[in-house]
Amino acid sequence: MRLTYNEIAARLGLSALESDIALTATVTDSREAAPGALFVCIPGSRVDGHDFVPAAVELGASAVLASRALPGAGVPVLVVEDTIKALGSIAAMWRDKTTARVVGVTGTAGKTTLKEVLAQVLSVRGKTAKNALNNNNQIGMPRAMLATDGDEDFWVMEAGISHEGDMEELSSVMRPDIGLILNVGAGHTEGLGSKGVAWHKSRLLTNLAPKGIGLVCADYPELVREARATGAELHFFSATGRAVDYRASYAGPAPAQADGRDDAATGIDAPDDRRGLYHLWLDGSRCDVTAPFRGEYGAENVIAVAAAAHLLGLSNAEIAQGLAQSELPVQRFNQTRVGKWLLIDDTYNANPLSMRRMLDAAAERAAGRLFVSVLGEMLELGPQAAAEHEALGKHLAELKPSAVFWKGGHGENIRAGLTCGGYTGPWFEVYDAAAFAAAWAELTHTAFAENKTGGVALFKGSRGNRLECLFQTLTEPE
Ligand code: ATP
Ligand code: MG
Repeated sequence: MRLTYNEIAARLGLSALESDIALTATVTDSREAAPGALFVCIPGSRVDGHDFVPAAVELGASAVLASRALPGAGVPVLVVEDTIKALGSIAAMWRDKTTARVVGVTGTAGKTTLKEVLAQVLSVRGKTAKNALNNNNQIGMPRAMLATDGDEDFWVMEAGISHEGDMEELSSVMRPDIGLILNVGAGHTEGLGSKGVAWHKSRLLTNLAPKGIGLVCADYPELVREARATGAELHFFSATGRAVDYRASYAGPAPAQADGRDDAATGIDAPDDRRGLYHLWLDGSRCDVTAPFRGEYGAENVIAVAAAAHLLGLSNAEIAQGLAQSELPVQRFNQTRVGKWLLIDDTYNANPLSMRRMLDAAAERAAGRLFVSVLGEMLELGPQAAAEHEALGKHLAELKPSAVFWKGGHGENIRAGLTCGGYTGPWFEVYDAAAFAAAWAELTHTAFAENKTGGVALFKGSRGNRLECLFQTLTEPE
């Protein structure tokens, strides 16, 4: 960013300095402070950023944004009622100055995945900025906007919500040219109150830029209804064959040579690539693309990316090139081979929508070989948690897993669902990585001892369960 103290003060209704200061970055962690930085004091539940002002100033921070006066801070202090809201206002001011086309991305499952792949595709055409990692809330997203140079062609910004009112705030900060809603389902429902997820996600469309449009998945009737109710101009995409402008379908594994990769050489069941082939219809024209997804669920992501890129003026060839080159973010359906096993690291997070779809995709990858699910609890579901876990168990039973591992609470609900679905196979409740490693070793020496054809194991659970610790016992054994 390139803003000055006085520009920011004017925006926040505060008084100006006699000699203005150039500000080039925002920091919330005092250890990252440096000359040119605006240190933003965030009052956290464990620590209060205000306590770290001396440390930030020591490292050269040029100014401070605080919610109380800080006499003796040693640098100018912008005092506001709510520093997080003020950070949003500053980001909104920076957004006004950029000529980048802004794509706001939301949905229940796959936002980060979509954001990362879309940014890689748009980079084929022009300079593209995005929020790093999963920085999608009222602190992370404005900071991501303020971390841009401002001369980009495109910004892709993920917006994630946990509470009522969150999306309204995020959309008013980014004012997207394209508000892209990937999907809706139960997720982060604990703090969202009585209005449905589709209503909350659709708030992305209530603060579009002038001539901004909504780009919405047509496969969720409630989402379509809520998006229409905002009055925004809408375009639709579908991964289930609905008659809309942008459509995609999954056509199986990518042809071995299509993208220059040859996983078959190291694989156990050639052709067996990590990438899929998708048929697309983009506003009347047909094209085939390869993309870093394996399974039906990927069609939703691929068409969302392609539709946004198409609306931003990329050609079909650019879209195909970008998708062919793109990679998934870490811990999202990352496929690794270890011996006879294809291990799928999907340990970043979990909710009912992503659990079901990733289990379906993994079971399809197993294609009749062993299929093991190593799952963790789905958090933040509020009162629906027990029922959602039981429903997941039933769904999993239909996929006929060879063994099920479980970490975290609600094990009894999953088990009830599995039993109800007719599952009678091995069940292990594990509390830590050592217990998992021991149970896995036992299984491979007993039930799976005769296994010649290998299999697929999916590792997935909510962030709080840290399923990556279990995954690592197989990929990085001591
Ligand atoms: P968070 O709410 O944690 O920010 P997110 O919406 O950003 O999550 P990702 O981190 O991209 O989502 O992915 C979370 C899970 O959703 C992963 O298991 C990922 O593979 C899965 N996923 C990706 N795309 C889809 C999709 N279209 N439908 C369902 N699940 C998906
Ligand atoms: Mg995310």
